[in-house]
Parts: sequence; structure tokens; C-alpha cells
Amino acid sequence: MSIRVTVWHEYRHEKTNPKVAEIYPKGMHEALATYLRTCRDIAVRTATLDEAEHGLGESVVNETDVMLWWGHIAHGEVKDEIVQRVHDRVLGGMGLIVLHSGHFSKIFKRLMGTTCNLKWREANDREILWVTRPGHPIVRDIDDHFILPQEEMYGEYFDIPDPMETVLISSFTGGEVFRSGVTYERGAGRIFYFRPGHETYPSYHDKNVLKVIENAVRWAAPTPQPAAHTFGNRPTGWVDKK
Ligand code: ZN
Repeated sequence: MSIRVTVWHEYRHEKTNPKVAEIYPKGMHEALATYLRTCRDIAVRTATLDEAEHGLGESVVNETDVMLWWGHIAHGEVKDEIVQRVHDRVLGGMGLIVLHSGHFSKIFKRLMGTTCNLKWREANDREILWVTRPGHPIVRDIDDHFILPQEEMYGEYFDIPDPMETVLISSFTGGEVFRSGVTYERGAGRIFYFRPGHETYPSYHDKNVLKVIENAVRWAAPTPQPAAHTFGNRPTGWVDKK
């Protein structure tokens, strides 16, 4: 069965900034979706902020195995009830891949429980992403590093909880470093934060960036879970009564 992916995108910069529209004529979500549609085991839909319920109605969320999330200037416009819906789905086992400025999204901050703040600079830095977990499924077919000639700089300290795994770290022209690929589990759900993807650079056309995202989709896909958990008081002697 295919992994059902929903690429969620704020989709605002492309409508107002010609530079972004030139790089992503159909939006960043379509660049990501177009690539993922070439993977035979992945079924892709997209959803954007300005659709009803941000494109994340109950059936869409319930039928999503892995969600991608890109937002930047309109995090505050995402309705809390939709955040709650996505949050519940993550705890229930849906994978979530949070991209670039999604570090400040309501859903990521809620799942992390920290400010998720960081240092940044828009100055055409060269970014080198180094693999710190060779053999991890998320960096399958990736060399020991790859280079993005121009990107926005994100620098430490990045105010996130200690990751379960740090799969990639970046260095920048300015000398800063950043934990660029980090994993978490919340409930039954797997979460991957992946740094590249500033809207004025063509990072979502880069083959290594796309490969990491493809790998992360497979890694974050739900694993079989029990139909229900049993909670609450369990009287002593329950074994014998069976
Ligand atoms: Zn950015």
C-alpha cells in the first residue's frame, strides 16, 4: 500500500514576491509534490492555508500517513482547532516533516514544548550539510555531505529539546553551525525537522534535499499500532480472572 503524503504549504510568498514565484511557479508545495509523485510507493496530495480548514479537513488528516509542513509569515493564521487535529494525528502515529521556517509553526512549537528560536541571516551563505548518522534511513543514498551554494543561515543555539537523533548538521559561510536534521517521537508519531528551504533559493529543486525528504517520508510512515491502549486502574489479581 502507498504511503499517503499531504504536503501542507502556507503558499503566500509565491503570490506576492516575483522572485519566489520565478523559482516556484506553482508554489513550493507543488515542487515537493511533483518530486514525491515520481516515487511509486508514495501517494501525494497538497493542502494550503487559504483553503477551507487550511485544506486539512478531518478526512484529509485522518487519511494522511505523513504530513510535510512549510510556513513562515502566517503561522498565526493557522487555526488552533486545525493544529489540535494535526497534533492528535501525530500522537496517533502520523509522521510529520517540518521544513525550514516551519520551526516557528504552532504545530512544531506545540510538539516540542520550547520556543524553537534560532539565529538567522539572509546573505547568500553557502551551506554544507554534514551527515552525523551514517546508515540512518533518512540519509540513504546521501554522501557524507552535500552543499547548497546559497541559502539563508540558521545558527545555534536552536531552542529545541535534545533530539532523539541528530542526522545532519550544517555549517555556513559565516562560521555558524546548526542541527539541520533532527528526529523526535511524540506518542506513536515520528517527527523530522529539516532545515533547508528558504523561499528565495531553489533548495527544493536540489536532488540531495529532495532525496532526504523522500527518505524521511518512508522513515516517518506509521508502524502498526495496537487497536487501543488500556489505561487507568488495573485491580490486582486480574491475571487469574482471565
Ligand atoms: Zn527562510
